[in-house]
Amino acid sequence: MRHYRKELWFQTDRRRQLINITPQVQDALDESGIREGLALVNAMHISASVFINDDESGLHQDYENWLEKLAPEKPHSQYRHNVGEDNADAHLKRTIMGREVVVAVTEGQLDVGPWEQIFYGEFDGKRRKRVLVKIIGD
Ligand code: ZN
Repeated sequence: MRHYRKELWFQTDRRRQLINITPQVQDALDESGIREGLALVNAMHISASVFINDDESGLHQDYENWLEKLAPEKPHSQYRHNVGEDNADAHLKRTIMGREVVVAVTEGQLDVGPWEQIFYGEFDGKRRKRVLVKIIGD
């Protein structure tokens, strides 16, 4: 079995932002040379997510609205975590949206459904943060 590891770095302009990272994950898969196996993609921070869904701008706004209803950023004082920091909402959003995805690798391609795209979900951005790509197989 072969294995491959790569870190993808992001720094968003906004506090909250969704980035389609499917091309970078496919690039990592191409670099790995692995044709059959599994690819794990996970956020390495507790205020960011990796998830799979549709790359459609209306849906992305729906995510923003939905997450702000469930865990509104402000007022910062509503959260007990926000003593000396202001990102409690980002921790909660990360929990809802998930830490990682695992995608099958078939014939050197990400074996996903027709509308499935891999996203980095940033909930406390404007600083450099990482996503881990780990691929195993043959
Ligand atoms: Zn925090």
